[in-house]
Amino acid sequence: MRKFTEELTNQVPTRELQPDEYFHESDRLIYCAKCHTPRQGRYTLQGRVFMPPIRCKCQQKLYNQEETKRKLLEKQAEIERMKASGLQDKALYDYTFDKDNGINPEMAYAHKYVENWEDMKANSSGLLLWGNVGTGKSFFAGCIANALLEKGVPVLMTNFSRILNTLTGMHFEDRNQFIDSLNRYSLLIIDDLGIERNSEFALEQVFNVIDSRYRSKKPLIVTTNLTLTELNSAPDVAHRRIYDRILERCAPIRINNRNIRQVNASANLQEAKKILL
Ligand SMILES: [Zn+2]
Repeated sequence: MRKFTEELTNQVPTRELQPDEYFHESDRLIYCAKCHTPRQGRYTLQGRVFMPPIRCKCQQKLYNQEETKRKLLEKQAEIERMKASGLQDKALYDYTFDKDNGINPEMAYAHKYVENWEDMKANSSGLLLWGNVGTGKSFFAGCIANALLEKGVPVLMTNFSRILNTLTGMHFEDRNQFIDSLNRYSLLIIDDLGIERNSEFALEQVFNVIDSRYRSKKPLIVTTNLTLTELNSAPDVAHRRIYDRILERCAPIRINNRNIRQVNASANLQEAKKILL
């Protein structure tokens, strides 16, 4: 009886045909007139026959194209969000490799850092970019930031003046929470170390940020107008403990002078050197 009913109901299409469809007598399914593949499936579950709508070949092709487009737009939107969060100074948007004028041969290290990012990250390897004002240190760091952001890596490029402005007036717990939040970024870039206020509060917070980053084992890139000698011979403990942390994880690169120098060559820095050089 059931079989008879089934056969009877399947003699005609189970729904109205669209202009680009036809009903196939042999398997009694609705077909696409363009690609000649079915727009209906058929399966039996617990004795009942189900005929759900399915995509024909050309509908599937269109669907796949739209999905690819949607995912690409979604990825681009995510990168834009990451840029808005990580490049708070809009001028940094222009610090990209394609705008490099080729004057600084050291830029090759910026390319290598990006190319070897997974190793740099695994090894907690950062960079210390030092040299005189106007030698392109921020540009160097900004290019790394933009290139990694384009790859979907969360990067924050900021400076201590900005961080200290945020921390001033915050409660102790909020300060710690804010400092911890900097470690959500896979790469933290601190631009222009050494130009911030020199108060006890400022030095304490600078140390907290650097120390928290150190303990997170995530890479840090620092740019500074201070010389390597100044960083290696800090006049007091407050400065020394900040610089020591930086020198331990950040390979020094002198910008605008064809000279890459490594100090405090721990195994960690040797590893970075092997990859970069
Ligand atoms: Zn079709």
